[in-house]
Amino acid sequence: MREIFVLGAGVIGMASAYALASEGLEVTVIDAGTGPAAGGASFGNGAQLSYSYTDALASPSLIANVPKLLLGFDPAFRLTPSLSPRFWAWSLSFLTNASRSSFERNTIEVLKLAMESRRGFAEISKKISFDHRSTGKLNLYSTHRGLRNAESLSRLKNKHGTEQVVLTAEEAIEREPALARFSHPFAGALWSPFDEAGDSWLFCQNLHTVLERDYGVKFKFGTKIEALRARSGKIDAIITDTGEFSCNRVVIALGAGSAAIARTAGIRLPIWPMQGYSMTIPASEMAPSVSITDTSRKVVFCRIGDRLRIGGLADIGGENPKFKKQRFAALLEAAKGMFPEAGDYTGNVNAWTGLRPMTPNSQPMVGQSKIEGLFLNCGHGSLGWTLSMATAARLAQAIRMEGNVISGAASLIHVHSN
Ligand SMILES: Cc1cc2nc3c(=O)[nH]c(=O)nc-3n(C[C@H](O)[C@H](O)[C@H](O)COP(=O)(O)OP(=O)(O)OC[C@H]3O[C@@H](n4cnc5c(N)ncnc54)[C@H](O)[C@@H]3O)c2cc1C
Repeated sequence: MREIFVLGAGVIGMASAYALASEGLEVTVIDAGTGPAAGGASFGNGAQLSYSYTDALASPSLIANVPKLLLGFDPAFRLTPSLSPRFWAWSLSFLTNASRSSFERNTIEVLKLAMESRRGFAEISKKISFDHRSTGKLNLYSTHRGLRNAESLSRLKNKHGTEQVVLTAEEAIEREPALARFSHPFAGALWSPFDEAGDSWLFCQNLHTVLERDYGVKFKFGTKIEALRARSGKIDAIITDTGEFSCNRVVIALGAGSAAIARTAGIRLPIWPMQGYSMTIPASEMAPSVSITDTSRKVVFCRIGDRLRIGGLADIGGENPKFKKQRFAALLEAAKGMFPEAGDYTGNVNAWTGLRPMTPNSQPMVGQSKIEGLFLNCGHGSLGWTLSMATAARLAQAIRMEGNVISGAASLIHVHSN
């Protein structure tokens, strides 16, 4: 009864394995990739531990922008409706989360998780290295209206533990002198002093070593999960391309792949992928050391060690989108245009794409599903790296209390009889 399988070795699966092994459970992690964080969003994300900027995607301002998105007029955000009924169910639920009150509630729920995660990262960074730095973050706003809206939300967030402050453009440049060479004028910035940065791929590599060596966690890489089997309402087997594993406790932590596998056990998860891109280039002396997010162009610049990670674009379309050269080129051009001297854009630009596993309310799903022994830790959207330590801790708590749904959009899960 102490055995548990964690499906997925992205940052969520690895943090889950750590939390469960720390409780004395015998953990086996299964993933199709060649190693930890090799095949999913945890490989090349924006690297920001964004504890304060937890704003939900569904918001009144995004809805006002939908016509522009559908017409392809927003360079950073693309919306191409899919024909899948699952897309329309997800979109409907997304719309119901876009009112001001839902937006604020969802933002604050994620903020609470982020604050818990911050404590988790403070602990784990004593055990493993992952280019972790306390950088603080500046969110740049191109208009005074955008800045005022951000200030008003920050007042609410500050009641829940952040200490965000609005800075004029001059004050932001004083805080991060590299901004003097930022090509676009900006009205001001929101300063989040608590925010940090780190490499989630490196985190997974070093955690892998610790989990194998100190906790006896077993890993089965190169193993594609094809289906789950439940009998009489209880989880019974994991079916993979290398054979079947009988089991009585399983955690789904498959990122954007979670919904497809949950469906095989009759569970519908409201997760839809939002594709993004990143590049990693050698940082120059003129690279910012504070994390920078340009909110209007939706591009983040984050220093990890001697590299600069630049992430961006938010494309919602098909369920299994591929790398699109012209979208990556758009990010590269945008980045060069913003911070031309921040790094070497001419050499080996490591181009990457990944899928953010979005839920309609931007909250991850953590806890027990309606199938006995089948647990969820998935749907972390744009903030999985940031939230990983908190959701892993909540998962461990749910397994300790077996039977309770702890947090997130789990009420949206529908179970069908097999
Ligand atoms: C461009 C971009 C920028 C981002 N920036 C940030 C940021 O700055 N800060 C932040 O907090 N978050 C950021 N995110 C979000 C964050 O990266 C994700 O939320 C997080 O990585 C999700 O982790 P995960 O472990 O759930 O999924 P993943 O990392 O995708 O891992 C899922 C794993 O499951 C495996 N898998 C899937 N299906 C199967 C199957 N059938 N069989 C076997 N294995 C399978 C995959 O191989 C993979 O290893 C960003 C995401 C993107 C795309």
